[in-house]
Order: sequence, then C-alpha cells, then structure tokens
Amino acid sequence: MRNLVTGGAGFLGSHLIDNLMKQGEEVICLDNYFTGRKTNISQWIGDPNFEVIRHDVTEPIQLEIDRIWHLACPASPIHYQMNPIKTSKTSFLGTYNMLGLARRVGARLLLASTSEVYGDPEIHPQPESYKGSVNPIGIRSCYDEGKRMAESLCFDYLRIHETEIRVARIFNTYGPRMQPNDGRVISNFIIQALTGKQLTIYGDGSQTRSFCYVDDLIEGLVKLMNSEVNGPVNIGNPDTFTIQEVANLVKHKINPNLEFIRKPLPEDDPLQRKPVIEKAKKELNWLASTPLESGIEKTINYFKQTLIQ
Ligand code: NAD
Ligand code: UDP
Repeated sequence: MRNLVTGGAGFLGSHLIDNLMKQGEEVICLDNYFTGRKTNISQWIGDPNFEVIRHDVTEPIQLEIDRIWHLACPASPIHYQMNPIKTSKTSFLGTYNMLGLARRVGARLLLASTSEVYGDPEIHPQPESYKGSVNPIGIRSCYDEGKRMAESLCFDYLRIHETEIRVARIFNTYGPRMQPNDGRVISNFIIQALTGKQLTIYGDGSQTRSFCYVDDLIEGLVKLMNSEVNGPVNIGNPDTFTIQEVANLVKHKINPNLEFIRKPLPEDDPLQRKPVIEKAKKELNWLASTPLESGIEKTINYFKQTLIQ
C-alpha cells in the first residue's frame, strides 16, 4: 500500500507513520510544519519506504497513492485559534484537495474528525447520531465548524463520486510527542509539574473529558481504515475524569507538594465530553485498553526525557 499521511509530522500523524512503517508499508509524509516537528519522523529518514514532502494542504497536489490518512490541521485550541481563518481554510480547502486527489487516483481517504463536532453537548455521553451543539460564531468555530464542513464534504464525495471515505471522530488523545507548548491539558499539567510550577485549572475543574492513550487511538484508526465502515465512528476512551481529577493524578505522580492555580474557563469550553463507542466495539472490534494512570506514566517519562535533552 502507498500511504499518504497529511499532518504526518504532528503528534498523531507521526505515531500513525510508525505503525504503518512497522507493517512494511510505503509512506509519504506531507506537512507544512505549522505544529509538526521533523524530529517526530526523523527515525524513518533514509528508509526506502519513506518519503517527506513539505506542502500545505490548502494547495492541490498530484500523487500516486492508494490511501490518504488526512490528519493535517492544528488540534490544540491555542494553535487553531492562532490563525483561525487559516484553520478554516485548512479544514475546508485541505479536505477538498485531498478528496479531489482521492477521487482522481481512486484512493480511500480517512478523515481525522473530532468530538468537537458535538460542540458543548446537551446529550451525554455522545453517540454518533447526536448532531451537536456548536456555536457557529465563537472562537472555537473555525475548528468545530471546519471539521463539520470537512465531514460534509466527505459524505458528498461518497454520494456523488462514490469516493471511499472513512470518518473517525477522535476524542481527546494524549501521549508522547505532544508539543510541550501546545496548551492541551495533559501536556500542560505534566510540564508544569515537572518544572515545579502551579497547575493551571481553568474554571472550577468540574468539566469532564475522556482521555485516550495514543497507541489505542492509532489502532482504532487503522482498524477503521481497513474496515468497510464509512463512519462517522467515535474513537476514544469512555473512561471520564474531571479536570480536577486529572490535576490530582498528575500532582500525585510527580510532586504531592504542588499547588493549583485557578484561571477563567475559556469561551465555549465544553462542560462534558464522553464517547459512546458501541459502534467501534461492534463494527471494528476496537476498544481502548490503556487506563489513564498508566498512559500518564508513559507520558511523564517521555516529557522527563525531553526536558533533560
Ligand atoms: P498536531 O497539531 O500535532 O498535528 C497536526 C499536523 O498537521 C502538524 O504536523 C501540522 O504541522 C500539520 N498541518 C497543519 N496545517 C497544515 C496544512 N495546512 N498543511 C499541511 N500540514 C498542516 O495535532 P494532532 O493532535 O496530531 O491532530 C491530528 C489530527 O487529529 C487533526 O486533524 C486533529 O483535528 C485530529 N484530532 C486530534 C485530537 C487529539 O486529541 N490529538 C482530537 C480530535 C481530533
Ligand atoms: N484545561 C485546564 N488547564 C490547562 C489546559 C486545559 O484546566 O492548563 C482544561 C480546558 O479548559 C478544558 C480541558 O482542560 O476544559 C481540556 O482542554 P484541552 O485544551 O486539552 O482540550 P479540549 O478543550 O479541546 O477538549
């Protein structure tokens, strides 16, 4: 299989590339390095099955490939809000260009969509049938509405051109290679704790999230791509924690003397989020198996190593 991984130098993309390369597949990594890093993929440079292209998905590209894993898009709120118009362009034009490519060469495309399509959900937990509660003019809308548009494009390409699409709705994922400065909660807490700073809890810390360890997530994406299921399929770990519980866990693991500092809850920050994963269980035979505690330990070890270097 010739695989194109857009956003391949990012957090999830680079783990996906590791998985594909270990299976002996051919991989082209395409990235504009907005939030990706060359060090995430440097282990494969020089391998005859691996190739890197610096390219922005908002521009068309011609390639001969069998599968497109379309992950290119900043994922952390501070990064996707840095240039929100560009985030919308990446979601819309990027997906449009990749679907056009898939159609031309007859490739199958997997879209990395997100639980953010559910917005600040009124239904808990969230099944794929839930249509969501997104603020279309808020500061998260470039990403939430961008991904909703990307999903919409995928299903129109399926209906009109019979393009093979797979849509994964990814819930909060964490693990090694998250950027230390990307502002997501688990990397923030671990870096703060390792450097002896107060842990920043936004709001009262009662908002909930479900955290999936990266290896489990990648296994889910691979199973979806290899399946006959178009989706959308929720891929996430349904074990749910309040942000205060996550802070307590990191504090307990790294330094019980650490303190917390309260900061305002960002605008449109969802109060609750938890996937219904019956579809992934039944149709993909997939289930996240890494408990938060052991995933956090692995992530702490990774950040300890990177802080030493
Ligand atoms: P990331 O920011 O680490 O990776 C995104 C990658 O895309 C980076 O390498 C970046 O440089 C690249 N990129 C961004 N804009 C681009 C463009 N216009 N052209 C080419 N490359 C571009 O984020 P991630 O956590 O690895 O997320 C990957 C995908 O998964 C994203 O599409 C994101 O929306 C989705 N997702 C992630 C999570 C999560 O918890 N990590 C949750 C839901 C959805
Ligand atoms: N959060 C927090 N402290 C931080 C970073 C995030 O309390 O230092 C909160 C944030 O307000 C949100 C939750 O943690 O309620 C998850 O935030 P993240 O940015 O990781 O992901 P998302 O909001 O996209 O789920």
